[in-house]
Amino acid sequence: MSKKYVYLFGGGKADGDASMRNLLGGKGANLAEMATIDIPVPAGFTMTTDLCTVYYDGKGKYPPELAKQVERGVAHIEKVMGAKFGDPENPLLVSVRSGARQSMPGMMETVLNIGLTSKTIKGLAKRTGNPRFVYDAYRRLMQMYADVVMEKAEGVEVPEGKGIRERMEHTLDSLKKRHGYESDADLTTADLKELVSKFKRLIKKALGKEFPDDPMAQLWGGIGAVFQSWNGKRAIAYRRIEGIPDEWGTAVNVQAMVFGNMGDDSATGVCFTRNPATGDKTFYGEWLSNAQGEDVVAGIRTPNPLNEKVKTDDTKHLPSLEKWRPKVYRELVGHRNCLETHYRDMQDLEFTIQQGTLWMLQTRSGKRNGPAAIKMAVDMCREGLISKEEALLRVRPAQLDELLHPMLDPAAEKTAKMLAKGLPAGPGGAVGKIVLTADRAEELGGAGEEVILVRNETSPEDVHGMHAAQAILTAKGGMTSHAALVARGWGKCCIVGCGALHIDVAKGTVSVNGQVLKEGDWITMNGTVGRVYGGKLPLLPANPETNPSYKQLMKWADEVRRLGVRTNADRPEDAAQARAFGAQGIGLCRTEHMFFGDDRIVAMRRMIVAETSEEREKALAKLLPFQKSDFLGILKAMRGLPVTIRLVDPPLHEFVPHDKAGTKDLAKQIGVSVKKLEARIAQLHELNPMLGHRGCRLGVTYPEITRMQTRAILEAAAELTKKKVKVYPEIMVPLVGTRAELADQRAIILEVAEEVKKKYNLRKLDFKIGTMVEIPRAALTADEVAEVADFFSFGTNDLTQMTFGYSRDDAGTFLPGYVERGILPKDPFQSVDVSGVGQLMRMSVEKGRATKRDLKLGICGEHGGDPDSITFCHEIGLDYVSCSPYRVPIARLAAARAVVEEKRARAKARAKKRKTASKRKTTGKRKAKRR
Ligand code: PEP
Ligand code: MG
Repeated sequence: MSKKYVYLFGGGKADGDASMRNLLGGKGANLAEMATIDIPVPAGFTMTTDLCTVYYDGKGKYPPELAKQVERGVAHIEKVMGAKFGDPENPLLVSVRSGARQSMPGMMETVLNIGLTSKTIKGLAKRTGNPRFVYDAYRRLMQMYADVVMEKAEGVEVPEGKGIRERMEHTLDSLKKRHGYESDADLTTADLKELVSKFKRLIKKALGKEFPDDPMAQLWGGIGAVFQSWNGKRAIAYRRIEGIPDEWGTAVNVQAMVFGNMGDDSATGVCFTRNPATGDKTFYGEWLSNAQGEDVVAGIRTPNPLNEKVKTDDTKHLPSLEKWRPKVYRELVGHRNCLETHYRDMQDLEFTIQQGTLWMLQTRSGKRNGPAAIKMAVDMCREGLISKEEALLRVRPAQLDELLHPMLDPAAEKTAKMLAKGLPAGPGGAVGKIVLTADRAEELGGAGEEVILVRNETSPEDVHGMHAAQAILTAKGGMTSHAALVARGWGKCCIVGCGALHIDVAKGTVSVNGQVLKEGDWITMNGTVGRVYGGKLPLLPANPETNPSYKQLMKWADEVRRLGVRTNADRPEDAAQARAFGAQGIGLCRTEHMFFGDDRIVAMRRMIVAETSEEREKALAKLLPFQKSDFLGILKAMRGLPVTIRLVDPPLHEFVPHDKAGTKDLAKQIGVSVKKLEARIAQLHELNPMLGHRGCRLGVTYPEITRMQTRAILEAAAELTKKKVKVYPEIMVPLVGTRAELADQRAIILEVAEEVKKKYNLRKLDFKIGTMVEIPRAALTADEVAEVADFFSFGTNDLTQMTFGYSRDDAGTFLPGYVERGILPKDPFQSVDVSGVGQLMRMSVEKGRATKRDLKLGICGEHGGDPDSITFCHEIGLDYVSCSPYRVPIARLAAARAVVEEKRARAKARAKKRKTASKRKTTGKRKAKRR
């Protein structure tokens, strides 16, 4: 039996249905489904995505059985539509469109009005009584066909701006100019006839071929061109961005043409079953009389409002379809209700009214913004249209972001000119004046001015200015650079790795692509996508707690999820914000940030340059009260919840001054000679500090640092315990690679704990000791490390850095190129590299739990806020994820979705197993019978 490549639809039935998306593409599957539920779709047929594969495998050759199937398809359209393809009296015209599994809007080609030839033009003109319309349709066919089929699909190389499309446009423009016409609508039948002859000559001359005058030749040309466009430049680029596999292929839909431009009783429109911008349950859309679909979208004519309800001040004077043709409108409302109930989701519909008859051309799930997605999901669940679980799947975690940060007004952004693009490190929108130093940012920001700190990169010394700024923009660095990490922690808009910026701090200028901006000039940033604009663009405010749909959805998410969600926070304010967003504890409190205040940095530096352990202890004693008060603040803010506090991690040289003036100042403050200080700073210098003397290596070399920090944490905990405040500190040792390192630090911590208990006269003090798993060796020997750990927290920033051997601070120079070229599927610093880094994580979980069944497991790298990585963490059985405060709601939703998806995958696997078992049984019985 020959393989079926052509699926028919129309006339109340179809060969396919909505479930056959993979084979028929989204468009084809939905057209088939509409046909079977009595929605009036123009008849047609879909050529499968399989055929696309066969076409490419055969280098553009079709299987022999196809011609017959296409002929049958054409005959089917003719029968349903009551017209004949190529018939001089009553001709049928068809469109040829692409349709992949996943919508790829505008990325592939379309050819309309196929079937118009010198013979059929006359018949159609007579039948419609509208020769102008017919010649207009013919010249549009010629323009599209010559460009898409005869030039692009044939691979004709032409210099930029000299393509056949441009040359035909030029002919059209000169004709309009000669007559003094303003728009295409002014062209008369005679003009169009003249144009058509000119086009014919031009095509022959430019492409060396006649424009085909045979309908079947036109059809095959159109089909081939659409298949070819799957591998067009635009389509390939779009697939890379959206992660659509090349081997999916596109389907091709051949469908009877219906015309919204056949006169004043014809129209065309686009509508949504609910408002896609707000989620309100109002039928929303736009239409135009005597027009083609593209006229509504192109924005040349202002479209009319669909009904009276959606009229605005700008459109109140325009006619609504509801008033213009009430009967047709009522019919459209009927289809809207039917399709939304049938698909159980908001639909984006296209319709055409041809001489008073309504046709539905397309239905698909409509795109929507974040707030609308949340409202629709919750409303539809309450209406009984979808389940709670489906509601959770309807909102992408990233869509919550739109509710959590002020956003750039999308309408204003559409028309703004972009200055530069970087990595989207901190979402949301921000507007401010450029400042180039942290001090200036603090000065102006503190005085209430809106500023954006623009730097090559940031360091802990810039934190005060970063905090005072509306947003941070850096020329260098990647998604886990200092700027990105800190900004995300505060929910601040941030763009990093914006290589087009050339910053000259001395001159106070930023040059970008030939434009020179000065300190004080306004810029606007969209941190969600990484775009920078010149000037001030309007922002839309954020306030999720006032949104009842958001609150409901999050409640459902919490009921469903298994993973806990904690936050990464080092300040009580951030901890409180995260708690308000639903955080169930702190998964990472980085203590090094606590050493940078004016009041403590000197003591810290004194400790670093100390030569003996007595001197060091003296300096540390000065730091103790500061640390203790920080921990009191953070433990109090998280009362009743666990707080993981990490001992100091970065190399010490990060804390010392790096310029002459700073060194001189410090020498004076601590009473040593500049020379001596310089020598000590030089001694701290390391060629590869990220792999140097940092993390627990510091604690091993200078146990007094571990002692001081432990004392500060546990004394704070003891004081609060005495006041009946429930606190659960968890002391985390960074950068452990061997069991012995952790055992060494654990012994110190336990020793100090005993002292603290004695000092506060406490019999018991609740706390845990654990480690980061961020060095591959710790993962490989997790069974040994677990012997001395109460918990593991995956530090996937460093684990990724060390597994790949990519510097997390510099990888921005080549990683985007890697992703673009498909060498890496995505940036591994953003989303866990499941096959490599993920393997180490999975192994640590298994080995760790084999040693200690109740070993607590979490993640605190940046990946803890990435939805795909959260799904992976759920899969490997972690107890919690920890992320920056503003990502907490996103993580809650992602964790819930992971449960729902897992449940569905299991149910699917069970159903498949049942099916195979019953198939086996039947074949077994049949065989037995035969025997
Ligand atoms: C990590 O390495 O993943 C981590 C959380 O620690 P840091 O980013 O502070 O190195
Ligand atoms: Mg780390």
